[in-house]
Amino acid sequence: MPLTKTIQDWCTEHPVIAELVALDETTWFNPNIAAVADALPDVPLTRADMDDASARLQRFAAFIQSAFPQTREAGGIIESPLYPLPALQRELGTHPGQLWLKADNELPISGSIKARGGIYEVLAHAERLALDAGLLQPGDDYAKLDSDAARAFFGQYRIAVGSTGNLGLSIGIISARLGFQATVHMSADARQWKKDKLRAHGVQVIEYPTDYSVAVAEGRRQAEGDPFCHFVDDENSRQLFLGYAVAALRLRGQLRQAGIEVDAGHPLFVYLPCGVGGGPGGVAFGLKQVFGDAVHCLFAEPTHSPCMLLGVYTGLHEAVSVYDFGIDNATAADGLAVGRPSGFVGRTMQRLIDGYYTVSDDNLYRLLARMERCAGLRLEPSALAGVPGMQRVLEERQGYRQRLGLSERHMANATHLVWATGGSMVPSAEMDAYLATGRALLDPR
Ligand SMILES: *Cc1c(COP(=O)(O)O)cnc(C)c1O
Repeated sequence: MPLTKTIQDWCTEHPVIAELVALDETTWFNPNIAAVADALPDVPLTRADMDDASARLQRFAAFIQSAFPQTREAGGIIESPLYPLPALQRELGTHPGQLWLKADNELPISGSIKARGGIYEVLAHAERLALDAGLLQPGDDYAKLDSDAARAFFGQYRIAVGSTGNLGLSIGIISARLGFQATVHMSADARQWKKDKLRAHGVQVIEYPTDYSVAVAEGRRQAEGDPFCHFVDDENSRQLFLGYAVAALRLRGQLRQAGIEVDAGHPLFVYLPCGVGGGPGGVAFGLKQVFGDAVHCLFAEPTHSPCMLLGVYTGLHEAVSVYDFGIDNATAADGLAVGRPSGFVGRTMQRLIDGYYTVSDDNLYRLLARMERCAGLRLEPSALAGVPGMQRVLEERQGYRQRLGLSERHMANATHLVWATGGSMVPSAEMDAYLATGRALLDPR
């Protein structure tokens, strides 16, 4: 245990930690955030890296379109729609401002935010291998990678990843489709249907009776020293991060099309469910590149898995896990059941993330049922974590809005965007059970 004082001392000195340890919902606005001009250089990646990732996805669009017919209409670009949520906002009674949803639950191929980073990293790796081997020339039509010759080439190589489920699904499906030998190391909390789906795609699934960190460590260890194996490192990968960041470039166009202004007078608040941190961190990095100080990002975690809040608040980052504080990391929010945060994201993004909050599983389920009733959207529990964010910002008494100069007029002009991170691949029987749980919690009889 790396803690320099007892849990009791932490709790006495820091009310936020006491709330986390008690598994109460809590919100913390980071007093150390800084302007983009000062804080973006903390991240060892640039706008050019992001634009490069975007161009790479554009080059691969011809392959994606050929390999995944469901992306044909979108020209092989893996993107999700933006929806207004007026009925849910009325029901929640949160105003002023407008509530919107970014529907990554509808992302094609793997139905979660992992279709951004995970697929991008495998494509970037495949491109490098194919260019080095002369299988691909700059300027080629990448549709040629959807061929037996290309699959035979990639078949010499292995891709491995450790996952609670959704990352494994993304990496496994795209890797297998390119022809790679794919191995997914899965934690105990991963759903059976995800393992079944991967095996049906020809992916090797190795199960661990432990949590996510152990599955990742074991995957990393097995991949080490194998020059033909690429390990997708969810805790540290720059490629994953950049794949997520591209979302911001796409969102800019979607907001424009919806007539939504984002500038100094029209702030954009974005609420991102956080597991290990790569997804929300990458998206937030992209948003800060695109919208600068006009965008405010908050991370949302389950009360039982508040690893990023703990890591950033204590300054201990990946040296601390929720278990060190007696928190059990047991949550129905699949992608968020992570006990130890990414040190890369926690450290490099700590002056760029406005705040962190926790949500109980019961409230995730209640919101799941309300989202279905008000908007007809079926999300998995994790994907609801962003919904309470608007209320947390509007009701905060920590001096956050005042410190940032966010006046009532700013809040009246604000857009609040809930990042809905998954759901469309959940089998309908499982989704019905989620909904039943949520409805029962809403209307206890
Ligand atoms: C993975 C995941 C997240 C969070 O992403 P991290 O990179 O782990 O922080 C959020 N929601 C869902 C549904 C996910 O699968």
